[in-house]
Amino acid sequence: MGTEFPVASAERTAGPGRVVDVLIIGAGQAGLGVAYWLRRLGDLQVLVVDELLIGQNWLQRWDSLQLFTPRRFSALPGLRFPAGPTRSPSRVEMAQYLQDYVRHFSVPVETGRRVQRLSQDEFGLVAHTANGVIRARQVVLATGPFRRPFVPDAGRGLSSDVRQLHSLQYRRPEDLPPGKVLVVGGGNSAAQLALELQATHSVTMASPGPLWFLPEDIAGISMYWWTLFTGVLQAPADAWASRYVRRRGDAIVGTQLRRLVAVGQVRLHPHRVVAGRDREVELEDGTVLSVSSVLWCTGFRPDTDWIDVPGAVDGSGAPLHDAGASPVRGLHWMGLPWQTRLNSSNIHGVGHDARVTARRLPERGRLALETAVGCGLEVLTQRSATPRPRIAGSARRRCAPLSCQSFTADTARFPSRHLWASCREPGRASRHARGGWEREAN
Ligand SMILES: Cc1cc2nc3c(=O)[nH]c(=O)nc-3n(C[C@H](O)[C@H](O)[C@H](O)COP(=O)(O)OP(=O)(O)OC[C@H]3O[C@@H](n4cnc5c(N)ncnc54)[C@H](O)[C@@H]3O)c2cc1C
Repeated sequence: MGTEFPVASAERTAGPGRVVDVLIIGAGQAGLGVAYWLRRLGDLQVLVVDELLIGQNWLQRWDSLQLFTPRRFSALPGLRFPAGPTRSPSRVEMAQYLQDYVRHFSVPVETGRRVQRLSQDEFGLVAHTANGVIRARQVVLATGPFRRPFVPDAGRGLSSDVRQLHSLQYRRPEDLPPGKVLVVGGGNSAAQLALELQATHSVTMASPGPLWFLPEDIAGISMYWWTLFTGVLQAPADAWASRYVRRRGDAIVGTQLRRLVAVGQVRLHPHRVVAGRDREVELEDGTVLSVSSVLWCTGFRPDTDWIDVPGAVDGSGAPLHDAGASPVRGLHWMGLPWQTRLNSSNIHGVGHDARVTARRLPERGRLALETAVGCGLEVLTQRSATPRPRIAGSARRRCAPLSCQSFTADTARFPSRHLWASCREPGRASRHARGGWEREAN
């Protein structure tokens, strides 16, 4: 997708570039979900870039990882998750599914392409990569909320003899020396890893509060179906159910760990870690635990240092947005926890948010275009590969008597179509190459 070409005016700011209507950064579930809906809803030129291969993110997680969502709830819009021997898919199956998804819908993805910096100039947003810049009227940031591991300061006080790993670094039990392991955290990662390690190590868990277990089934029906039927799963982010879950923390799916805690196989302290000294960890209730290793399942923080766009993030680097819409023109977030609903950052919830985002894009594109034209700048747009005569015709009729300024302000639900139409007006534009890019100077 996209075409290499020199952008005369843009060279002043970011050098030659490549232009697309929509650039999606991140080809995980969130990015692919938006690409799917964009394809269904319009004819914008879309490019998805990712620094990793498709699904590699899942492959990098621990070996035994089994998703906590059943297969039916681990699918993206438009493609069922294949049946398999287990109730929930493994990380390898999930990676395979994402690869199949890209193939099935021919999603235009370029892998191995890291966006090192995202900036903004008068033309729109500029993604800087090792092999050049990509300009886009709109950028969807789908780079994942679980990327930069967070470890509490208490870890710094521990002796170097104590092996410390974050769940992102852990692969298998042999990564930790024999002896006492402290698993810190109260979510599904902590629960899964405590269960795995209790077979080979002496496991103690320190969770920030009492753990909250949900059975996998009630009356033989998956808990996920119950939450779906009752509307809890897809509750809006500000509904009482969402507020309750936020206050209580993530529920642990399955009750196996609860049984092991009950028989003393895994020791559970529902208290935060407050300090680490030598080979000991202190909890907030004063309990001191001696450890040989610590597995931090303590979550993640936003990874937004590379986003150099004023107004995109707050002082702590957290995304600023309203249901994913950034206050920055043309910028959108996807896959954030609680973006619109309780399950926004889960696979099952991504389809809804992706659709909301995809629907917003043409409208936002118009704003970016207005800015560029309003500033008296040269506007570059890609001619629609398959212009629909009806739309192009009506656009032409509406646009013909208008000045460039009012043209963009008054019309343009689909800017690329309208510009395509307007570029055909003699004296207003020139066509440079068949199937390539067109330029309109005002
Ligand atoms: C251990 C674990 C288990 C989970 N299990 C489940 C589960 O069972 N069910 C469920 O519904 N959810 C689960 N989740 C939550 C969520 O579904 C996953 O984290 C999922 O991977 C998030 O998808 P995403 O597309 O938002 O982000 P990611 O999958 O993280 O994808 C983001 C992509 O962006 C790319 N990227 C980032 N920065 C850049 C850049 N600057 N330039 C180019 N590319 C970039 C990355 O390479 C990555 O491929 C789990 C999460 C974790 C951490």
